[in-house]
Amino acid sequence: EFSSRELTESLLARIERLDGDLNSFITVTPEQALAAADAADAARARGEAGPLTGLPLALKDIFCTTGVRTSAGSKMLDNFVAPYDATVVEKLQAAGTVSLGKTNMDEFAMGSSNENSFYGPVKNPWDGAAVPGGSSGGSAAAVAAGLVPAAMGTDTGGSIRQPAAFCGITGLKPTYGRVSRYGIIAYASSLDQAGPMARTAADCAHLLGAIAGHDLRDSTSVARGVPDYTAELEAPLSGLKIGLPKEYFGEGLDPDVERAVREAIRVYESLGATVREVSLPHTHYAIPAYYVIAPAEASSNLARYDGVRFGHRCDAPADLTDLYKRSRAEGFGEEVQRRILMGTHTLSEGFFDAYYKKAQQVRRLIRQDFLDAFDEVDVLMGPASPTPAFDLGAKKDPVSMYLQDIYTIAINLAGIPGISVPAGIVGGRPAEGRPVGLQILGTHFAEARLLNVAHQFQ
Ligand code: GLN
Repeated sequence: EFSSRELTESLLARIERLDGDLNSFITVTPEQALAAADAADAARARGEAGPLTGLPLALKDIFCTTGVRTSAGSKMLDNFVAPYDATVVEKLQAAGTVSLGKTNMDEFAMGSSNENSFYGPVKNPWDGAAVPGGSSGGSAAAVAAGLVPAAMGTDTGGSIRQPAAFCGITGLKPTYGRVSRYGIIAYASSLDQAGPMARTAADCAHLLGAIAGHDLRDSTSVARGVPDYTAELEAPLSGLKIGLPKEYFGEGLDPDVERAVREAIRVYESLGATVREVSLPHTHYAIPAYYVIAPAEASSNLARYDGVRFGHRCDAPADLTDLYKRSRAEGFGEEVQRRILMGTHTLSEGFFDAYYKKAQQVRRLIRQDFLDAFDEVDVLMGPASPTPAFDLGAKKDPVSMYLQDIYTIAINLAGIPGISVPAGIVGGRPAEGRPVGLQILGTHFAEARLLNVAHQFQ
């Protein structure tokens, strides 16, 4: 049997060997990792080990960690060391896990390919020409490359599920409010949610159990008991009612992805599930509504980076306005600046009702679509992404990148949970040997059911 220290040392050596090329970590923390591993070994020796004691993992660099830089993938926070831990980090430490470091990500979690990181793109471990997805691309690549067995991500519009799909791993976005957002650098506060990324649904079940729960420091976290998410993993699926949203199998869906997803659904039928088509009629409004709401919230959240209190400050400012302007112009990358401009515009006087208020009304309709569907079926299934991982540099136009999120974004607007599970590898050109993700959706707080359904496929 390995000690936690031996396991940690061997993974640190693997990171050293492979991550120069992969670039999945922004910061590796060997000293803290070895100290945590020793503590885990000591706990085991005392007979106090839990299921996660000594588990090595990595944290998306959006979770605040005491004494270790938290950059959010931005030059703005390249020098930022938080004075406290995020609740998720605290809970993972209390469970005895061993963090090996902080993973690469799109700047402030804005992106679908990891190409917006100040620290450079991440390679997809399956194919170095492909992106790993985003924004939690470093977490997905690190797990897929065997650098860590699990990692934490965040998902505002797909950032856990889409990189999980692109890298052939399992990623769960919990119900909004299931996991505390305290200490997670805010992108769009009404959409952001943290969740686990790992090889299997069973691993995700253990991790979700560790991080979920009410937190007095996040007023949007829900005061609701945390079940044992592993208890129902083996429950049989006979009688499970699966809905296939017809809008998720339409134009733009890569035929190889569709084939892999439909084959996965046939496996569920062989396990006793029944399948029917359903409709989510407001699906085509999800991307426009999201790209009003998320930038609006982002422009507000990012106002705090002013060169005074946090992060990057320009050299020799002439006056206060110059300090603000140049610090922000130098600290934020192009996509982040674009979102701040969009958000500031839609929130400005005279535009608020036409854009922001309208988007919130559409959001309510999108949520109702899902609730209506869950009156009919237990879970919804479809692709996590319309294509397998695309090539680095292939999507230069921001709108083509935004369209990439068509199957994930509505889920955040509705606040429901979703999981992406590996559903095969597509072979044919132009996508040689790139993974496909099956997305499974459930109603609010149905995580145990989603994990059960995902696990039965694995
Ligand atoms: N790709 C989406 C965006 O850029 C979603 C990102 C996320 O979930 N953080 O906003």
